[in-house]
Amino acid sequence: MAVALVWLRDDLRLDDQPALRAALERGWLPVPVYIHAPDDEGDWAPGAASDAWRRRSLAALAAELERRGSRLLLLHGPTLGTLQALAALTGAEAVLWTRRYEPAIEQRDAKIKRALRQAGLHAESFNGALLFEPWELATRQGDPYRVFTPFWRSARAAWRAPRTWDAPARLPSPDEAGVPHGVPLDDVLPAPRPAWDAGFWDRFVPGEAGARRALAHFVEHALGDYAAARDMAGEPGTSRLSPHLHFGEVSVQRVAAAVLAAGEAVAAADRDRFLAELGWREFAHHVLHHYPHVPGRNLDPRFEAFAWANPSPAKLQAWREGRTGVPIVDAGMRELWHTGWMHNRVRMIVASWLTKHLRLHWEHGARWFWDTLVDADLANNTQGWQWTAGTGADAAPYFRIFNPVAQAAKFDPDGAYIARWVPELAPLPVPARFAPWEHPDLLRRLAPAYPRRPQVDLAAGRQGALDAFAALRSPA
Ligand code: FAD
Repeated sequence: MAVALVWLRDDLRLDDQPALRAALERGWLPVPVYIHAPDDEGDWAPGAASDAWRRRSLAALAAELERRGSRLLLLHGPTLGTLQALAALTGAEAVLWTRRYEPAIEQRDAKIKRALRQAGLHAESFNGALLFEPWELATRQGDPYRVFTPFWRSARAAWRAPRTWDAPARLPSPDEAGVPHGVPLDDVLPAPRPAWDAGFWDRFVPGEAGARRALAHFVEHALGDYAAARDMAGEPGTSRLSPHLHFGEVSVQRVAAAVLAAGEAVAAADRDRFLAELGWREFAHHVLHHYPHVPGRNLDPRFEAFAWANPSPAKLQAWREGRTGVPIVDAGMRELWHTGWMHNRVRMIVASWLTKHLRLHWEHGARWFWDTLVDADLANNTQGWQWTAGTGADAAPYFRIFNPVAQAAKFDPDGAYIARWVPELAPLPVPARFAPWEHPDLLRRLAPAYPRRPQVDLAAGRQGALDAFAALRSPA
């Protein structure tokens, strides 16, 4: 049986796995291989939290393959050379993989495909990450979309019922083709020491089985109230599927199928709202593919002239560590540090604080998220930051500045989220938890360890942002 290398990357699953499926359906012996090559990722090599997740996800995938009679070949080194050497060693006829859309990776993969084909191999890539390829949807004029609503409307019009594929219970063994053994996981992705990631695993179980459980749990317990509960910071009202989707541990088709299968048991408003969030993920990938400069530059070119503040290392560090003196911001930043994840509403609040009240360039925030999020995803992270900063596609206008006190009162009304992540504020009665500087006596008596005042006065920070924006609109 001739070999096909099934080159796995951010599609660490067997279920609904198009490269594996193609190998089996076309009569090749699939040899699953993962090549660790962070240097190929350009300016955006995976951050520490991503690596901690990937380590566990690869271990889960290896175990799943072994359970089915196959195994994972883990290698490291320059990607093309490694694939070519492995193909020569195993006599492989084909190399199959799922597409990725990060600019550096798209360029690298195009080169790899050309080189493999020139060497006489069958090299083929598949869509296993998106509902729509970034080039499948275009405006009437044939341009890429820059506004979400018409993008999603055209996606819904082109929508086909999700089709999924179940991996077989048994897979052929690579031993049949004399495939060598790879390197130990500890050599390429050692466990973090000290174990700063311990808190991540109270909330998440990386790998395909963990993803399936998270999806089933969400559909059963939270989908039915998604539209209302998704914004409440302290409630488990969202799916928390983002790292599983980023690492491809569950296919987005499988997620969409599960949500649609809930049928009449769930109100259309909840279902549609959730599908629209998957739509934002699609939109982010569409924009990244068509505007590959966005991870480093404003999509709206007017902002190239914006008067960002000079970065103050002390202010930035206080933001990162959740010591800004603004409770909802500090709660979010500490949730991120401890769990590798942050609620979407709070991501917007902390990003608005950084880019508006502190007037720091959004890339400072994007880089920190990149290193600390387990769901760090170049398309979604860039979009989230540029959207909040007002510099991106279909962005919130720059002059829309989140008031962190009003946001906390609305989306954490009982103050439980703040009390959980900023426990030194738990003794304060609820309204004081949102703006403790307005209650100096209580703060001194009940929460003496918390900053006396915010790192920037709320009104002054807001005015500074508005002034800088006004100057941009009417340059002197
Ligand atoms: P759910 O509400 O259950 O949504 C389901 C899925 O839809 C998510 O898993 C995610 O894949 C997708 N999704 C939901 N909201 C968005 C959105 N606004 N944009 C794109 N996709 C979305 N998401 C990431 O996956 N990686 C990132 O690096 C990332 N960085 C962000 C940075 C900022 C500043 C902001 C404001 C948002 C960012 N997001 C990012 C988007 C969003 O916050 C997360 O996708 C969401 O919080 C994940 O939680 P969930 O899986 O429970 O979402």
